[in-house]
Amino acid sequence: MTGSHGSRIRVLDESTVIRISAGEVVERAASVVKELCENSIDAGAGRIRVSIISQKDRMTSIQVSDDGCGMNPDDALLAFSRYATSKISGIDDLFTCKTLGFRGEALASIASVAHVTLVTKSREGTGISGTKIVNRGGEIQGESETGCPSGTVITIEELFFNTPARGKFQKSTATEIALITGIIERLVITHPEIAFELSHNDRQILSVPGGGLMDAIIHLYGLPLARQLIRVQRGGRGVLVEGYISYPSLTRKNQYQMYISVNKRSVASRAIAGAIREAYDTLMPADRYPVVFLDFTLAPSEVDVNVHPTKREVRLSREDEIRKEIVSVIRESLARECLIPEAGAGPAAFPRVENAAGVQYSIPEEKGSGVKEPLLRERITTGRQLSLTGRQTDAQVESKLPEYEIIGQLGSLYILATTPGDDLLVIDQHAAHERVLYEQVQERSERNREIQELIDPVVLSLSPGESETLAGSLPLLAEEGFLIEGFGPGTFLVRTVPVLLGQNIEPREIREIIAGIIAPGTVRGVDTREQLRRMVACRGAIKAGAECTTDQCRQLLEQLARTKNPYTCPHGRPTMVLFGKRKLDELFKRV
Ligand code: ADP
Ligand code: MG
Repeated sequence: MTGSHGSRIRVLDESTVIRISAGEVVERAASVVKELCENSIDAGAGRIRVSIISQKDRMTSIQVSDDGCGMNPDDALLAFSRYATSKISGIDDLFTCKTLGFRGEALASIASVAHVTLVTKSREGTGISGTKIVNRGGEIQGESETGCPSGTVITIEELFFNTPARGKFQKSTATEIALITGIIERLVITHPEIAFELSHNDRQILSVPGGGLMDAIIHLYGLPLARQLIRVQRGGRGVLVEGYISYPSLTRKNQYQMYISVNKRSVASRAIAGAIREAYDTLMPADRYPVVFLDFTLAPSEVDVNVHPTKREVRLSREDEIRKEIVSVIRESLARECLIPEAGAGPAAFPRVENAAGVQYSIPEEKGSGVKEPLLRERITTGRQLSLTGRQTDAQVESKLPEYEIIGQLGSLYILATTPGDDLLVIDQHAAHERVLYEQVQERSERNREIQELIDPVVLSLSPGESETLAGSLPLLAEEGFLIEGFGPGTFLVRTVPVLLGQNIEPREIREIIAGIIAPGTVRGVDTREQLRRMVACRGAIKAGAECTTDQCRQLLEQLARTKNPYTCPHGRPTMVLFGKRKLDELFKRV
């Protein structure tokens, strides 16, 4: 870290530059904020303030101020040179480097595409005045003395003024602010001892006092989530694991709340995320993920952070061993809290998770007949789901399925039918109903927006980053049938849902749908509206695992037959597979 006297920033020599240069680091406003905040962290700040000003949906100013070590006048000038850094002096230092930055590229890149004002004063300097430098498009326009407290304030204006293409490419301010909030949330999690503040046009979005990780989690994600966490602090061979993991009952449908950092650098590591998930094993359903806030301390020499421009990806040198250590550390922590039986000693001691409709699966007593008789509650749920999509079915539309006769249901998931040609048709009931719902959601949203008022509004408790994303999506959500109102910081009320979901939809299902569009990193290349529609179709559809009556199977196939594309679900998976009689004959060596 910085802190010695005199001039400390040096320009890296060419051989080092060739090996670490990432080229461009600032492609959007959010990356500017990330780079500036990381510099403040590296400067040993105890408090970091980010303030964004926008006018008419254009960001006019981004300011980051800190109470870190500051810079003396010479360093302040040098800081804008490319490959000028105080953090390493050559390639060898990379293997001991503990700072977030080391390439000396960020300030130079930012200055080259903006109007930057730097005001800084070294903590160690004796004078009362600091330095002010104005840089426009990479050229120093002025340097002066100025009275200021120790620390650094960097103000970015007219971002991308000289790169109109990039300027135009910028998303709406709301999107950018949501991204920025997410970035700062991650920095708070990795550096919970620092007080962070974020505001937009004087509206405070996030404020954490720097009181440690648990405190930060409560501030960002609320007490109910914090209560479901288990503290982890354990050393394995060559790795120290610290932070919190969720009880197996708190799960997410993707990895977006697995906050993982290596040596306090937030990273996306498949190896580590995979190891954590592996440790939970069957404690949660196979397609669910825990919530974790974990930092892994490894010897810097074992972590290569120089593999990706944004440093989000890292390479671990003893990946397999570290993976194993992580699995065992997490298992031990879970075992202490949850009394997990020994690995391999039969099924987990946890009750099976109920399915979305609150139905406990039971093993039907009667064997033999193709279609098992479902429990009453289950039958009612399925019936309701089918009737919601049944109303719409237009008898005029020609059936796209071959003629068929239902013979049974397999594994509470596949409907088996035969065709007049004695082919075997196997239909995935969930995928099939998803397709039906999806097409109806699309049609209804475009024609008329029927909405269903919920008996009890569903409460959403969101982190600042999630709140920002949701706030930006409210108009779209309303168009699609979800009327959602803000209700104090981090709290929203869902009042209506699309009519196809029905008024008995479980609050959990609604939360999952909303989470699906505010969780970063969902399906790429698919716009939010499309994502939302797919989600509605998925959550509203008959579940895999629901036993259906013969009549329900028939209704479902009739509805499917009248869709525009009955052959795939909205995610592109097949809804049905045909086993030709000829193929069967071949298998039995009859032809
Ligand atoms: P890097 O962080 O990779 O070293 P940057 O271009 O981000 O490169 O910053 C260049 C140098 O400027 C840093 O090495 C550091 O010495 C100095 N610097 C930047 N921001 C700050 C800050 N907020 N406080 C103190 N020094 C800073
Ligand atoms: Mg930096």
